[in-house]
Amino acid sequence: MSTLTKGKNAKASNSNGKALSTPRTDPIVGEVGLPEDPNNLYTETVSTMLRAAEIMNLPRYLRLILAQPKNEIMVHFPVQMDDGEFKLFKGYRVQHNNALGPYKGGLRFHHDVHLDDVKSLAFLMTMKCSLVGVPYGGGKGGIKVNPRDHSSAEMERIVRRFTAAIAHNIGPDYDIPAPDVGSNSQHMAWIADTFSFLSEIGGDNPAAVITGKPVSYGGSLGREKATGQGVVDTLVEMLPELKLKPEKCNFSVLGFGNVGSWSAKIFQEKGAKLTAAADHTGFIINEKGIDADDLAEFVKAKGGVGGYPKATKCSKDDFYKHKVDVFIPAALEQMIQEPEAKMITCKVMAEGANAPTTPAGERILIDKGIEVLPAILCNAGGVTVSYFEWVQNKTFQAWDLEKVDKALNKHMVQAATKTRAARGKYKCDLRTAAYIAALQRLTEAYEVRGIFP
Ligand code: NAD
Repeated sequence: MSTLTKGKNAKASNSNGKALSTPRTDPIVGEVGLPEDPNNLYTETVSTMLRAAEIMNLPRYLRLILAQPKNEIMVHFPVQMDDGEFKLFKGYRVQHNNALGPYKGGLRFHHDVHLDDVKSLAFLMTMKCSLVGVPYGGGKGGIKVNPRDHSSAEMERIVRRFTAAIAHNIGPDYDIPAPDVGSNSQHMAWIADTFSFLSEIGGDNPAAVITGKPVSYGGSLGREKATGQGVVDTLVEMLPELKLKPEKCNFSVLGFGNVGSWSAKIFQEKGAKLTAAADHTGFIINEKGIDADDLAEFVKAKGGVGGYPKATKCSKDDFYKHKVDVFIPAALEQMIQEPEAKMITCKVMAEGANAPTTPAGERILIDKGIEVLPAILCNAGGVTVSYFEWVQNKTFQAWDLEKVDKALNKHMVQAATKTRAARGKYKCDLRTAAYIAALQRLTEAYEVRGIFP
């Protein structure tokens, strides 16, 4: 039985009296050398997998393999700033697992990137790619940098220098990065160009080393909106069983960047009404509705939702307490902890961001009867269209948008169906079910591949 199932397991507390995120620590956590602190993001992520593993009786050797990434690469590289001074930057690439295919996962450009975050995100990519049925393993990377602190010329030098530093560890058939928080299609173009230059002839199409490129340089139509599109495809698929219709829903979004704004715009197209939004610049509400396209234009021009004139500024508490049918967290990890979960009043939470909910937060949501659509299902649209971009690059094709959207929807519906089937079989919550479905495909691959030597 899942430890996340309603009403199970009393909460423990640590030496500070703070509620622990997990009711118990799996012995494998200690065995593979992870921090015992269950609030550590990587331990938290792996513990969720281990609970699913326990329920489905996953072979022990697989629990061990998946509890740690295959490779953790850290680089330091100097870059000259516009004023002539040099700065030293730190970059990461974590390659979690490649049993199903090349490592795949985004690059985060953020001043607060740490190895544990990158490991967690790489792990989640392994699960996500398995669940959504693309032939990839999981990876993730990043640079400890705030892009807002640098001119475009400085960012170009930082990105190109980082690419050179990890060039021997990535490749179109080995490890294929993509955008994530703080990185965009221009950064991907610089990475593709630098890698192509360094690899000289470098295979059929070295630009296939990265996805999320501009459409003018090998990018796919539909990639920019893909994660938001996948969030909405998942909602459309899952809402009927909760007796909800998109056109009757109001919703709020936390984080109005790529994932948040596209989720809002596409859900609005289905007839849903955006009534609250938030990001690093503030919280806004308008019960009568906020036009998601107009807000996205405002955010592009001003850098955030704060100051949007067609809604009212509100407090963080008012934002979370605002009653909606659907709440979409689309900002950063671990933002929905116990205090936020206690305030949230929605019927469905669709996780656009990766790992936005802590296990303690999730227990509260489940106790309140809120259906949580887990990130590895809900936000898998991005990697799915990245896969289509890679296929187009490798075969020198350019698909039209209709083909991309249709193929994406097929993958999203299949992933939702597998998740529902696992929930039915194991009588667990949706997150555990999504992990079980992902682990099943990985198990089948390991069983036929074996461990060599
Ligand atoms: P982004 O940089 O475009 O947007 C991030 C948003 O989070 C911004 O609106 C920012 O203001 C907001 N934010 C940051 N700190 C905040 C804070 N303290 N409080 C409130 N808001 C805050 O990034 P994105 O690509 O939209 O990614 C968002 C999430 O979705 C991340 O967890 C990312 O890993 C995940 N994700 C992204 C993709 C993709 O294709 N871009 C795919 C899958 C998952």
